[in-house]
Amino acid sequence: MRASTEDESTPDDREPASDLQLTPDVMLELARSASEMVVGRLRALRSERPWRGASRAELEPLLREPPPEEGRPALEVMQRAVRDVLPVAARVDHPRFFAFVPSSATWPGVLAEYLAAGFNTFQGTWLGSGGPSQLELVVTDWFRQWLGYPESAGGLFTSGGSAASLDALVAAREHAGAPDRPAVLMSDQSHSALERAARIVGVRPEAILKVPSDARFRIRVDELERMLSRARRDGLSPIAVCANAGATNTGAVDPLDEMADLCAREGVWLHVDAAYGGFAVITERGRELFRGIDRADSVTLDAHKWLFQPFEAGSLMVRDVRRLEAAFGVRPEYLQDADLGMEQVNFGDRGLQLSRSFRALKVWMSVQTFGVAAFRRAVGRGIELADRAGEHVRASEVLEMLSPPSLGVVCFRVRPEGAGLSEADLERLNAAVQERVIAEGVAMMSSTRLKGTYALRLCILNHQTTWADVRETLEAIERFGLEAAATR
Ligand SMILES: *Cc1c(COP(=O)(O)O)cnc(C)c1O
Repeated sequence: MRASTEDESTPDDREPASDLQLTPDVMLELARSASEMVVGRLRALRSERPWRGASRAELEPLLREPPPEEGRPALEVMQRAVRDVLPVAARVDHPRFFAFVPSSATWPGVLAEYLAAGFNTFQGTWLGSGGPSQLELVVTDWFRQWLGYPESAGGLFTSGGSAASLDALVAAREHAGAPDRPAVLMSDQSHSALERAARIVGVRPEAILKVPSDARFRIRVDELERMLSRARRDGLSPIAVCANAGATNTGAVDPLDEMADLCAREGVWLHVDAAYGGFAVITERGRELFRGIDRADSVTLDAHKWLFQPFEAGSLMVRDVRRLEAAFGVRPEYLQDADLGMEQVNFGDRGLQLSRSFRALKVWMSVQTFGVAAFRRAVGRGIELADRAGEHVRASEVLEMLSPPSLGVVCFRVRPEGAGLSEADLERLNAAVQERVIAEGVAMMSSTRLKGTYALRLCILNHQTTWADVRETLEAIERFGLEAAATR
């Protein structure tokens, strides 16, 4: 705060209040330049390589410096970021980025980030942000309805699936009465985020129990049941069972209905990790695949994956939202003014963060702009493209299917017919093919291991990806595979 004498002067003869301020004209000019740079990037995206990396040794001399004591022109600073920093990265929104889990943001979602930052929304309490809090209620209620959850359900936006998993396991632990020796059961295909979340909530490594999956990479419910009873016999208290609705490796969906039956019988919290795959629930195919998801105690969804939002836009939905508030609600003295009664939700009481950004705005603006039908078509197209990729693999004399297409993911490997290659040869061959696909800028793709077997994996979620992108990538893989096999 400035001295009070200044507050009494008229605005015109006031000294500039801050060295950190720019004039409105300069602000607009800079914002326009930033917009041009971003739109320019998007326009050129297709002609760019889907990945650009650099080593620490290359980047250190370019960027290492002490913070300057005096400032530089803002435009120059921004141009430097756009030239030297931001492009040295994966283009996860490139139509040929098939690695890990792609994220292709829609423009209203990008602008929502800008608006939320510009209005500097504090989304921790209703007192701090009534309008935005109401909108988070509205958008999480869309998610509730998409999942088929009852009225009692609710949730919140989080940074991502990892944070959502953590919040879920905290709620599960508290619901179980915070036992001394908690255990969590999950599939051997579960995402590392769940293991990390289990560790953070105080589950000992030996009580994080990995249940074997079947030939289609779905959790074996008979094994789950056995391991659950054994855990109890060993004196552990299972606080949660984690299911996959779109496992990262293969897109596999666990038998949710059967797991819900078991968890209901055993009185254990069922958490469904649907971080990347979950929004397929807006399609008919997804709804069928996810039968039983509405019986889970909690579900993780990542709108920065298959709902086409910029990072970060995770969310956790809980079947009985009071359990979330029971786990996280704390009332410190300095927030006493923020207690406006039950009707007014303080989102800070539903998870880890008090200072929160307004993530719901991204989803709201995108869905308002394009409509749910457009999202349904975009998600459906990812599923179809992966199906077509699967047909191509099945028909190929060079490729071998390792896991059939599911929710945009397909895993396979190069295995030329009649080449008589050993497993070790095949692994080297496939690793070399993957490297060449990336090095020649054909596409960005990642590899994984499926029950020990080295696999090439395509994850096709981008709303701008065409069949030509997928087909040409597969054809390049076949060609590189044959060449590598021939030169062995
Ligand atoms: C991406 C993903 C996560 C982790 O979510 P983040 O948003 O990266 O924190 C967890 N589970 C699955 C299945 C995922 O695809």
